[in-house]
Amino acid sequence: MTASTSAGSARVECSRAGCRDDAVWAVHWRNPRIHSADRRKTWVACDAHVSYLREFLSARDFPVRVEALSNEPA
Ligand SMILES: [Zn+2]
Repeated sequence: MTASTSAGSARVECSRAGCRDDAVWAVHWRNPRIHSADRRKTWVACDAHVSYLREFLSARDFPVRVEALSNEPA
């Protein structure tokens, strides 16, 4: 499971199972079958896995949007 990290932690790890690389991409997605239209899930990915995660989601016909991960404080 993902532990909720407090603001201020500088690095974010890739969401891909087993990957400990720094995430540089944010993958925003939604499962239309279980999420209402205003829900968004966000995965984060390193360079090596952003395409894997995007393909994984788009193969399921989930709406996917990929953005560069910004480090701006929430
Ligand atoms: Zn990764």
